[in-house]
Amino acid sequence: MKWDGHTHSQFCKHGSGEDTALMIERAILLGFDRYSVVEHAPLPDGIIEDPEIRRDFGLNWEELEDYFSHLDELKRVYGRRIEILSGLEIDFFAGMESFTAELVDACSGKLDDVILSLHFIQGKDRFQALDYQPDVFEKALLDYYGTIDEVHRAYWRALEHMIDTGLRLPSTKRIGHLGLINKFAGLFEKPADEIRSITFFEPLFRKIKSKGWALDFNVAGLNQKWYQDLYLTAPMLFWIAKLNIDLVYGSDAHRVEAVGQYYDRFLKFTKN
Ligand SMILES: [Zn+2]
Ligand SMILES: [Zn+2]
Repeated sequence: MKWDGHTHSQFCKHGSGEDTALMIERAILLGFDRYSVVEHAPLPDGIIEDPEIRRDFGLNWEELEDYFSHLDELKRVYGRRIEILSGLEIDFFAGMESFTAELVDACSGKLDDVILSLHFIQGKDRFQALDYQPDVFEKALLDYYGTIDEVHRAYWRALEHMIDTGLRLPSTKRIGHLGLINKFAGLFEKPADEIRSITFFEPLFRKIKSKGWALDFNVAGLNQKWYQDLYLTAPMLFWIAKLNIDLVYGSDAHRVEAVGQYYDRFLKFTKN
């Protein structure tokens, strides 16, 4: 089963704006059997004050209906050639689980697939995006926590919290781009070896396995300006292989050309 489990759509304001249909046609051309469209879900109020900036981060509540009708239409047009899963990439906010539960309920019956992602952790004054801009990372997270080690520890703690949540999600659900904390790695000091070790990750990955989570084998890290590697680092891949954790390839495409990118990396890992 060749599956691109993480793609965005023409609804995404920080993507290319290209038609979702063209992205799906690209996936068909590349021989994909299954294709998940997981647009960024609406954020809770108060996370991003400026409505214009907020619009860049994810769908508005009012757009959800149009978004799902758009996907229904694409299923009608392409459904015989590729299985399309309609989904959302939902942000997790520690302590705001009721918002997430409400969102999932509001979309019930529409969600074939969900990616739960951690893009925000507690930082200066509020939740702060860890992958938005380097200066936000520096001023709102690094300065707030004091050291890069503490930022990483906060990220992994928040993830552990996320893994423990008892959210009722569809049967296909994954944790998005684990290791996203490294997106600007090239700009900052490296965290201590201990925080990047096989030993450090053991409890986390055992928990992922025991709670039945699958992981997004997200290749977007390979294309970043300050990071050119998989977000899943070697110690994480060690535990994934050892514990046999389910993995789904994710291009994280925000434009046609990125659909299916680096699929060979996924094949290479899963065949070993
Ligand atoms: Zn995006
Ligand atoms: Zn994401």
